[in-house]
Amino acid sequence: MIISPKIRGFICTTAHPDGCAAHVQEQIDYVKSKPALANAPKRVLVVGSSTGYGLASRIVPAFGGGAATIGVFFEKEGSDGKTGSAGWYNSAAFEEAAAKSGLYAKSFNGDAFSKEVKQQVIDAIKADLGQVDMIVYSLASPRRTDPETGEVYKSVLKPTGETYTNKTLNTDKKQVDTVTIESANEDEIAQTVKVMGGEDWKLWIDALSAAGVLADGFKTVAYSYIGPELTWAIYTDGTIGRAKLHLEQTARELNAAYGADTAVVSVNKALVTQASSAIPVVPLYISILYKIMKAKGTHEGCIEQIQRLFADHYGAANGPVLDDKGRIRIDDWEMRPEVQEEVEKVWNVITTEQLDELSDFAGYQKEFLKLFGFGLAGVDYAAEAEPVRPVASIG
Ligand code: NAD
Repeated sequence: MIISPKIRGFICTTAHPDGCAAHVQEQIDYVKSKPALANAPKRVLVVGSSTGYGLASRIVPAFGGGAATIGVFFEKEGSDGKTGSAGWYNSAAFEEAAAKSGLYAKSFNGDAFSKEVKQQVIDAIKADLGQVDMIVYSLASPRRTDPETGEVYKSVLKPTGETYTNKTLNTDKKQVDTVTIESANEDEIAQTVKVMGGEDWKLWIDALSAAGVLADGFKTVAYSYIGPELTWAIYTDGTIGRAKLHLEQTARELNAAYGADTAVVSVNKALVTQASSAIPVVPLYISILYKIMKAKGTHEGCIEQIQRLFADHYGAANGPVLDDKGRIRIDDWEMRPEVQEEVEKVWNVITTEQLDELSDFAGYQKEFLKLFGFGLAGVDYAAEAEPVRPVASIG
Protein backbone atom coordinates (compact mmCIF):
# COMPACT_ATOMS: atom_id res chain seq x y z
CA MET A 1 0.00 0.00 0.00
CA ILE A 2 1.02 3.64 -0.45
CA ILE A 3 1.34 5.07 3.06
CA SER A 4 0.91 8.77 3.74
CA PRO A 5 0.36 10.71 6.97
CA LYS A 6 -3.22 10.96 8.31
CA ILE A 7 -3.17 13.54 11.07
CA ARG A 8 -6.04 13.77 13.55
CA GLY A 9 -5.45 16.54 16.08
CA PHE A 10 -2.22 15.74 17.88
CA ILE A 11 -1.77 12.22 16.56
CA CYS A 12 -0.97 10.67 13.24
CA THR A 13 -3.00 7.51 12.68
CA THR A 14 -0.66 6.03 10.08
CA ALA A 15 3.04 5.20 10.23
CA HIS A 16 5.55 4.35 7.52
CA PRO A 17 7.57 1.16 8.20
CA ASP A 18 10.54 2.11 6.03
CA GLY A 19 10.50 5.67 7.36
CA CYS A 20 10.45 4.40 10.96
CA ALA A 21 13.36 2.09 10.11
CA ALA A 22 15.28 5.06 8.64
CA HIS A 23 14.52 7.08 11.80
CA VAL A 24 15.85 4.27 14.01
CA GLN A 25 18.93 3.90 11.77
CA GLU A 26 19.58 7.66 12.01
CA GLN A 27 19.67 7.30 15.81
CA ILE A 28 21.90 4.21 15.66
CA ASP A 29 24.30 6.05 13.33
CA TYR A 30 24.45 8.97 15.74
CA VAL A 31 25.36 6.68 18.65
CA LYS A 32 27.95 4.86 16.54
CA SER A 33 29.56 8.21 15.63
CA LYS A 34 30.30 8.76 19.34
CA PRO A 35 33.03 7.08 21.38
CA ALA A 36 32.01 3.74 22.91
CA LEU A 37 30.38 4.17 26.34
CA ALA A 38 32.50 3.78 29.45
CA ASN A 39 31.02 1.76 32.35
CA ALA A 40 28.15 0.73 30.10
CA PRO A 41 25.45 -1.52 31.56
CA LYS A 42 25.54 -4.86 29.72
CA ARG A 43 21.99 -6.12 30.32
CA VAL A 44 19.32 -3.44 30.09
CA LEU A 45 15.54 -3.56 30.49
CA VAL A 46 13.64 -0.61 29.02
CA VAL A 47 9.98 -0.25 29.98
CA GLY A 48 8.41 1.96 27.27
CA SER A 49 11.11 1.18 24.70
CA SER A 50 9.38 1.75 21.36
CA THR A 51 9.31 5.53 20.86
CA GLY A 52 10.70 8.81 22.20
CA TYR A 53 13.01 8.74 25.19
CA GLY A 54 12.57 5.00 25.81
CA LEU A 55 13.59 4.02 22.26
CA ALA A 56 16.70 6.22 22.58
CA SER A 57 17.38 4.53 25.94
CA ARG A 58 17.41 1.16 24.19
CA ILE A 59 19.55 2.31 21.25
CA VAL A 60 22.28 4.05 23.30
CA PRO A 61 23.36 1.16 25.58
CA ALA A 62 22.93 -1.37 22.74
CA PHE A 63 24.89 0.39 20.01
CA GLY A 64 27.13 2.48 22.26
CA GLY A 65 27.90 -0.18 24.84
CA GLY A 66 27.07 -3.54 23.26
CA ALA A 67 24.26 -4.18 25.75
CA ALA A 68 21.70 -6.95 25.52
CA THR A 69 18.30 -5.29 25.74
CA ILE A 70 14.78 -6.28 26.66
CA GLY A 71 12.10 -3.82 25.59
CA VAL A 72 8.49 -3.52 26.74
CA PHE A 73 5.89 -1.47 24.88
CA PHE A 74 2.24 -1.23 23.95
CA GLU A 75 1.98 -0.96 20.17
CA LYS A 76 -0.17 -2.02 17.24
CA GLU A 77 1.00 -4.50 14.66
CA GLY A 78 0.29 -3.75 10.99
CA SER A 79 -2.05 -5.90 8.93
CA ASP A 80 -2.95 -6.16 5.26
CA GLY A 81 -4.14 -2.73 4.19
CA LYS A 82 -3.64 -1.15 7.62
CA THR A 83 -0.49 0.30 9.06
CA GLY A 84 0.84 -0.60 12.47
CA SER A 85 1.93 2.02 14.99
CA ALA A 86 5.30 3.77 14.74
CA GLY A 87 6.54 2.08 17.92
CA TRP A 88 5.88 -1.33 16.39
CA TYR A 89 7.89 -0.50 13.26
CA ASN A 90 10.64 1.14 15.35
CA SER A 91 10.95 -2.02 17.40
CA ALA A 92 11.00 -4.23 14.30
CA ALA A 93 13.82 -2.08 12.88
CA PHE A 94 15.69 -1.98 16.18
CA GLU A 95 15.67 -5.77 16.46
CA GLU A 96 16.79 -6.19 12.86
CA ALA A 97 19.72 -3.84 13.39
CA ALA A 98 20.58 -5.46 16.74
CA ALA A 99 20.64 -8.91 15.12
CA LYS A 100 22.94 -7.65 12.37
CA SER A 101 25.32 -6.36 15.03
CA GLY A 102 25.14 -9.61 17.01
CA LEU A 103 23.28 -7.96 19.90
CA TYR A 104 20.69 -9.80 21.98
CA ALA A 105 17.27 -8.12 21.83
CA LYS A 106 13.90 -9.35 23.04
CA SER A 107 10.65 -7.41 23.01
CA PHE A 108 7.29 -7.70 24.76
CA ASN A 109 4.19 -6.03 23.37
CA GLY A 110 1.64 -5.77 26.16
CA ASP A 111 0.51 -3.85 29.20
CA ALA A 112 3.57 -3.00 31.30
CA PHE A 113 1.29 -2.26 34.26
CA SER A 114 0.10 -5.88 34.37
CA LYS A 115 1.53 -8.73 36.44
CA GLU A 116 1.55 -10.98 33.36
CA VAL A 117 3.96 -8.83 31.36
CA LYS A 118 6.26 -8.44 34.38
CA GLN A 119 6.31 -12.22 34.74
CA GLN A 120 7.04 -12.76 31.02
CA VAL A 121 9.98 -10.36 31.27
CA ILE A 122 11.29 -12.09 34.41
CA ASP A 123 11.07 -15.47 32.67
CA ALA A 124 13.03 -14.12 29.69
CA ILE A 125 15.72 -12.61 31.92
CA LYS A 126 16.07 -15.91 33.78
CA ALA A 127 16.24 -17.92 30.59
CA ASP A 128 18.52 -15.67 28.55
CA LEU A 129 20.43 -13.15 30.65
CA GLY A 130 20.34 -14.33 34.26
CA GLN A 131 20.07 -10.78 35.59
CA VAL A 132 19.79 -7.16 34.46
CA ASP A 133 22.12 -4.29 35.44
CA MET A 134 19.90 -1.42 34.47
CA ILE A 135 16.19 -0.69 34.23
CA VAL A 136 14.99 2.39 32.36
CA TYR A 137 11.40 3.31 33.14
CA SER A 138 10.06 5.46 30.30
CA LEU A 139 6.31 4.93 30.16
CA ALA A 140 3.93 7.64 29.05
CA SER A 141 0.37 6.41 29.21
CA PRO A 142 -3.08 7.97 29.46
CA ARG A 143 -4.44 5.13 31.62
CA ARG A 144 -3.48 2.30 33.93
CA THR A 145 -5.35 -0.76 35.12
CA ASP A 146 -4.45 -1.51 38.73
CA PRO A 147 -3.00 -5.03 38.72
CA GLU A 148 -4.58 -5.87 42.10
CA THR A 149 -8.06 -4.37 41.89
CA GLY A 150 -8.63 -4.15 38.13
CA GLU A 151 -9.70 -0.54 38.59
CA VAL A 152 -8.84 1.71 35.63
CA TYR A 153 -7.19 5.06 36.39
CA LYS A 154 -6.99 7.88 33.85
CA SER A 155 -4.45 10.66 33.78
CA VAL A 156 -5.42 14.23 32.92
CA LEU A 157 -3.30 17.23 31.92
CA LYS A 158 -4.72 20.02 34.04
CA PRO A 159 -3.55 22.71 36.45
CA THR A 160 -4.08 22.03 40.14
CA GLY A 161 -4.59 25.58 41.44
CA GLU A 162 -6.53 28.26 39.63
CA THR A 163 -8.14 27.94 36.23
CA TYR A 164 -5.28 28.53 33.79
CA THR A 165 -5.27 30.63 30.64
CA ASN A 166 -2.30 30.92 28.31
CA LYS A 167 -1.21 30.84 24.71
CA THR A 168 -1.23 27.52 22.92
CA LEU A 169 -0.62 26.28 19.42
CA ASN A 170 -3.29 24.69 17.31
CA THR A 171 -0.85 22.55 15.33
CA ASP A 172 -3.54 21.52 12.79
CA LYS A 173 -4.53 25.07 11.90
CA LYS A 174 -1.06 26.57 12.47
CA GLN A 175 -2.64 29.09 14.77
CA VAL A 176 -1.64 30.66 18.08
CA ASP A 177 -4.78 30.46 20.24
CA THR A 178 -5.65 31.04 23.85
CA VAL A 179 -6.50 28.01 25.95
CA THR A 180 -8.34 28.02 29.27
CA ILE A 181 -8.15 24.89 31.38
CA GLU A 182 -10.17 24.28 34.52
CA SER A 183 -8.26 23.14 37.54
CA ALA A 184 -8.28 19.41 38.31
CA ASN A 185 -10.21 18.08 41.29
CA GLU A 186 -8.61 15.86 43.94
CA ASP A 187 -9.78 12.67 42.26
CA GLU A 188 -8.21 13.67 38.93
CA ILE A 189 -4.94 14.49 40.67
CA ALA A 190 -4.96 11.13 42.48
CA GLN A 191 -5.74 9.25 39.27
CA THR A 192 -2.92 10.98 37.37
CA VAL A 193 -0.49 10.09 40.16
CA LYS A 194 -1.67 6.46 39.94
CA VAL A 195 -0.93 6.37 36.20
CA MET A 196 2.19 8.51 35.82
CA GLY A 197 3.65 8.39 39.36
CA GLY A 198 6.16 5.88 40.65
CA GLU A 199 3.88 3.09 41.90
CA ASP A 200 4.37 0.86 38.87
CA TRP A 201 8.12 1.66 38.68
CA LYS A 202 8.44 0.30 42.23
CA LEU A 203 6.27 -2.73 41.38
CA TRP A 204 8.67 -3.54 38.54
CA ILE A 205 11.77 -3.25 40.71
CA ASP A 206 10.20 -5.21 43.58
CA ALA A 207 9.04 -7.98 41.20
CA LEU A 208 12.47 -8.22 39.55
CA SER A 209 14.13 -8.28 42.97
CA ALA A 210 11.80 -10.97 44.35
CA ALA A 211 12.61 -13.10 41.29
CA GLY A 212 16.35 -12.67 41.92
CA VAL A 213 17.03 -11.15 38.51
CA LEU A 214 18.60 -7.85 39.63
CA ALA A 215 22.40 -7.74 39.50
CA ASP A 216 24.30 -6.43 42.50
CA GLY A 217 24.70 -2.68 42.19
CA PHE A 218 21.93 -2.43 39.55
CA LYS A 219 20.75 1.04 38.52
CA THR A 220 17.32 2.33 37.57
CA VAL A 221 16.25 5.64 36.07
CA ALA A 222 12.86 7.22 35.33
CA TYR A 223 12.23 10.42 33.38
CA SER A 224 10.71 13.72 34.38
CA TYR A 225 10.33 17.27 33.15
CA ILE A 226 10.41 20.65 34.87
CA GLY A 227 10.70 23.44 32.28
CA PRO A 228 10.29 27.20 32.66
CA GLU A 229 7.75 29.06 34.75
CA LEU A 230 5.51 29.75 31.76
CA THR A 231 4.62 26.04 31.55
CA TRP A 232 4.53 25.35 35.29
CA ALA A 233 0.76 25.78 35.70
CA ILE A 234 0.09 23.03 33.15
CA TYR A 235 3.12 20.85 33.86
CA THR A 236 5.25 21.13 37.01
CA ASP A 237 2.46 22.53 39.19
CA GLY A 238 -0.22 20.59 37.32
CA THR A 239 -1.53 17.04 37.65
CA ILE A 240 1.43 15.57 35.73
CA GLY A 241 3.85 17.47 37.99
CA ARG A 242 2.19 15.85 41.01
CA ALA A 243 2.80 12.47 39.43
CA LYS A 244 6.45 13.41 38.81
CA LEU A 245 6.82 14.42 42.47
CA HIS A 246 5.59 10.94 43.33
CA LEU A 247 8.19 9.52 40.95
CA GLU A 248 10.91 11.39 42.86
CA GLN A 249 9.50 10.14 46.17
CA THR A 250 9.59 6.61 44.71
CA ALA A 251 13.28 7.05 43.79
CA ARG A 252 13.97 7.84 47.47
CA GLU A 253 11.98 4.77 48.57
CA LEU A 254 13.86 2.56 46.11
CA ASN A 255 17.18 3.92 47.36
CA ALA A 256 16.15 3.21 50.95
CA ALA A 257 15.25 -0.35 49.99
CA TYR A 258 18.00 -1.20 47.49
CA GLY A 259 20.91 1.07 48.39
CA ALA A 260 21.75 4.74 47.88
CA ASP A 261 22.31 5.78 44.24
CA THR A 262 20.30 2.85 42.86
CA ALA A 263 17.33 4.86 41.60
CA VAL A 264 17.36 8.31 40.11
CA VAL A 265 15.00 10.59 38.25
CA SER A 266 16.51 12.25 35.20
CA VAL A 267 14.97 15.57 34.20
CA ASN A 268 14.99 15.69 30.41
CA LYS A 269 14.53 18.36 27.75
CA ALA A 270 11.14 19.22 26.25
CA LEU A 271 10.97 17.41 22.92
CA VAL A 272 8.42 16.51 20.29
CA THR A 273 7.17 13.02 21.11
CA GLN A 274 3.78 11.36 20.88
CA ALA A 275 3.31 12.07 24.61
CA SER A 276 4.35 15.74 24.63
CA SER A 277 2.34 16.75 21.57
CA ALA A 278 -0.83 16.05 23.60
CA ILE A 279 -0.01 18.62 26.28
CA PRO A 280 -1.60 22.06 25.82
CA VAL A 281 0.83 25.03 25.66
CA VAL A 282 3.91 22.75 25.32
CA PRO A 283 4.05 22.51 21.47
CA LEU A 284 4.22 26.33 21.23
CA TYR A 285 6.93 26.41 23.88
CA ILE A 286 8.85 23.66 22.03
CA SER A 287 8.57 25.52 18.68
CA ILE A 288 10.05 28.66 20.25
CA LEU A 289 12.68 26.73 22.20
CA TYR A 290 13.87 24.81 19.11
CA LYS A 291 14.52 28.02 17.18
CA ILE A 292 16.56 29.52 20.03
CA MET A 293 18.54 26.36 20.82
CA LYS A 294 19.21 25.66 17.13
CA ALA A 295 20.57 29.21 16.71
CA LYS A 296 22.85 28.65 19.70
CA GLY A 297 23.95 25.24 18.41
CA THR A 298 22.67 23.49 21.56
CA HIS A 299 19.57 21.80 20.16
CA GLU A 300 19.24 18.08 20.93
CA GLY A 301 16.72 15.33 20.20
CA CYS A 302 15.98 12.22 22.30
CA ILE A 303 19.05 10.37 21.07
CA GLU A 304 21.48 13.21 21.84
CA GLN A 305 19.90 13.64 25.27
CA ILE A 306 20.15 9.97 26.18
CA GLN A 307 23.66 9.68 24.74
CA ARG A 308 24.64 12.45 27.18
CA LEU A 309 22.83 10.63 30.02
CA PHE A 310 24.85 7.46 29.47
CA ALA A 311 28.17 9.03 28.45
CA ASP A 312 28.39 11.99 30.85
CA HIS A 313 26.46 10.64 33.83
CA TYR A 314 26.47 6.83 33.97
CA GLY A 315 29.82 6.77 32.18
CA ALA A 316 31.47 9.18 34.61
CA ALA A 317 33.99 7.72 37.06
CA ASN A 318 31.97 9.02 40.03
CA GLY A 319 28.57 8.28 38.54
CA PRO A 320 25.80 10.75 37.72
CA VAL A 321 26.05 14.38 38.79
CA LEU A 322 22.92 15.20 40.79
CA ASP A 323 21.15 18.47 41.63
CA ASP A 324 20.22 19.51 45.16
CA LYS A 325 17.14 17.28 44.98
CA GLY A 326 19.08 14.21 43.87
CA ARG A 327 18.04 14.38 40.19
CA ILE A 328 20.09 14.15 36.99
CA ARG A 329 19.62 17.32 34.90
CA ILE A 330 20.03 16.74 31.17
CA ASP A 331 17.60 19.64 30.75
CA ASP A 332 20.57 21.85 31.70
CA TRP A 333 21.04 23.36 28.23
CA GLU A 334 17.30 24.05 27.88
CA MET A 335 17.23 25.77 31.25
CA ARG A 336 20.21 28.07 30.69
CA PRO A 337 19.13 31.61 31.66
CA GLU A 338 20.11 33.08 28.28
CA VAL A 339 17.86 30.53 26.53
CA GLN A 340 14.92 31.04 28.84
CA GLU A 341 15.16 34.85 28.73
CA GLU A 342 14.83 34.70 24.95
CA VAL A 343 11.95 32.21 25.15
CA GLU A 344 10.08 34.53 27.48
CA LYS A 345 10.56 37.56 25.24
CA VAL A 346 9.21 35.67 22.24
CA TRP A 347 6.41 34.07 24.25
CA ASN A 348 5.08 37.48 25.27
CA VAL A 349 4.72 38.78 21.71
CA ILE A 350 4.16 35.77 19.46
CA THR A 351 0.99 35.61 17.35
CA THR A 352 -0.14 33.43 14.46
CA GLU A 353 1.29 35.92 11.94
CA GLN A 354 4.81 35.67 13.40
CA LEU A 355 4.84 31.94 14.00
CA ASP A 356 7.28 31.24 11.16
CA GLU A 357 9.51 34.18 11.95
CA LEU A 358 9.73 33.83 15.74
CA SER A 359 9.46 30.07 16.19
CA ASP A 360 10.63 26.88 14.56
CA PHE A 361 7.13 25.59 13.87
CA ALA A 362 8.41 24.13 10.60
CA GLY A 363 10.98 22.16 12.64
CA TYR A 364 8.26 21.08 15.08
CA GLN A 365 6.09 19.78 12.25
CA LYS A 366 9.02 18.01 10.63
CA GLU A 367 9.92 16.30 13.89
CA PHE A 368 6.30 15.37 14.52
CA LEU A 369 6.02 13.69 11.12
CA LYS A 370 9.35 11.94 11.66
CA LEU A 371 7.92 10.28 14.78
CA PHE A 372 5.64 8.39 12.41
CA GLY A 373 8.31 7.71 9.80
CA PHE A 374 7.46 10.52 7.37
CA GLY A 375 9.92 12.97 5.79
CA LEU A 376 13.01 10.77 6.10
CA ALA A 377 15.66 11.12 3.42
CA GLY A 378 16.11 8.11 1.17
CA VAL A 379 12.59 6.74 1.65
CA ASP A 380 10.40 6.54 -1.45
CA TYR A 381 7.00 7.53 -0.11
CA ALA A 382 5.37 7.11 -3.52
CA ALA A 383 6.32 3.43 -3.61
CA GLU A 384 4.23 0.52 -2.33
CA ALA A 385 5.18 -0.38 1.25
CA GLU A 386 4.40 -3.61 3.09
CA PRO A 387 2.57 -2.77 6.36
CA VAL A 388 3.20 -6.19 7.96
CA ARG A 389 6.64 -6.15 9.58
CA PRO A 390 7.50 -8.67 12.23
CA VAL A 391 9.34 -7.76 15.41
CA ALA A 392 11.72 -10.72 15.22
CA SER A 393 11.52 -11.84 18.87
CA ILE A 394 7.70 -11.55 18.89
CA GLY A 395 7.19 -13.17 15.49
P1 NAD B 1 6.37 8.31 24.16
O1 NAD B 1 4.91 8.49 23.98
O2 NAD B 1 7.26 8.56 22.99
O3 NAD B 1 6.72 6.83 24.70
C1 NAD B 1 5.91 6.15 25.60
C2 NAD B 1 6.29 4.68 25.64
O4 NAD B 1 5.46 4.03 26.63
C3 NAD B 1 6.08 3.91 24.33
O5 NAD B 1 7.11 2.96 24.18
C4 NAD B 1 4.76 3.18 24.57
O6 NAD B 1 4.59 1.98 23.80
C5 NAD B 1 4.91 2.86 26.04
N1 NAD B 1 3.65 2.55 26.74
C6 NAD B 1 2.59 3.37 26.96
N2 NAD B 1 1.63 2.70 27.67
C7 NAD B 1 2.10 1.44 27.89
C8 NAD B 1 1.61 0.30 28.56
N3 NAD B 1 0.43 0.29 29.18
N4 NAD B 1 2.38 -0.83 28.56
C9 NAD B 1 3.59 -0.87 27.92
N5 NAD B 1 4.12 0.21 27.31
C10 NAD B 1 3.39 1.34 27.28
O7 NAD B 1 6.76 9.26 25.39
P2 NAD B 1 8.07 10.07 25.83
O8 NAD B 1 7.80 11.51 25.58
O9 NAD B 1 9.29 9.44 25.33
O10 NAD B 1 7.96 9.89 27.42
C11 NAD B 1 8.69 8.94 28.15
C12 NAD B 1 8.96 9.52 29.54
O11 NAD B 1 9.78 10.68 29.39
C13 NAD B 1 7.70 9.98 30.29
O12 NAD B 1 7.85 9.69 31.65
C14 NAD B 1 7.71 11.48 30.06
O13 NAD B 1 7.02 12.18 31.07
C15 NAD B 1 9.20 11.75 30.11
N6 NAD B 1 9.64 13.04 29.53
C16 NAD B 1 9.22 13.44 28.30
C17 NAD B 1 9.61 14.68 27.81
C18 NAD B 1 9.15 15.17 26.46
O14 NAD B 1 9.26 16.38 26.20
N7 NAD B 1 8.70 14.32 25.59
C19 NAD B 1 10.48 15.49 28.56
C20 NAD B 1 10.94 15.03 29.78
C21 NAD B 1 10.50 13.81 30.28
